[in-house]
Amino acid sequence: MLKTLIWMLAPFLLVACVTPSAPVRSGGSVAQARLPTAPPPAGTFVPDERVKVCTGLRVRNAPANDRSGYVANYRRLVVAQRRIVLTPMPLNGGCISSGFGQRDGRLHKGLDISAPRGTWVYSAAPGIVLEAGWGGGYGNYVLIDHGLGLTTRYAHLDKFVEGLTVGSELGFGWPIGQVGNTSTRRVGVHLHFEVLTGDYYKTRNTSKLKGNDPFSFPVYETPPLS
Ligand SMILES: [Zn+2]
Repeated sequence: MLKTLIWMLAPFLLVACVTPSAPVRSGGSVAQARLPTAPPPAGTFVPDERVKVCTGLRVRNAPANDRSGYVANYRRLVVAQRRIVLTPMPLNGGCISSGFGQRDGRLHKGLDISAPRGTWVYSAAPGIVLEAGWGGGYGNYVLIDHGLGLTTRYAHLDKFVEGLTVGSELGFGWPIGQVGNTSTRRVGVHLHFEVLTGDYYKTRNTSKLKGNDPFSFPVYETPPLS
């Protein structure tokens, strides 16, 4: 009897096991395929047109989304500190597995963007690398100074792009590292992305900086050509 039941359930059990490594579908689930390790040329990154909340993963703090799961306030390019154009999604093919806001009784200071291990992560705006290294819960991370009191952090990275060091000057959308799960905490493969404001140089302690919801900034309107 038990044997029959197992056989009857086998296709469903199989599906359950296979789902996490299924290829990317339009539903925002995440592929685990091997990705090329050579970084794409700097400046070729184009942020995704639309972004979904993940399906098939435990999503917490989901940002506002429509009936199809698309993030309602996502814009490819937004403006921070009135003058800095940045993207709230610094990689391609990801989905949101956790939004900005209160989580487990404390502030989740960034976005969790699920994407296959090895997915290239790009600078969200031009800037200079302030920190690049390993930091406990952040795992391997990069912190970029964009000026005007704006910094961004990219955490849990599997690897850094070759040659990246403190002081590296980056343009918009330059490859900086690859998605991983190098946190000391047991987290899935994803990018933890923070958009911080405040005076980093005052304390050199990012815990004193204000976290901002990357989806809260106004859209960047392309200026008319004259
Ligand atoms: Zn996070």
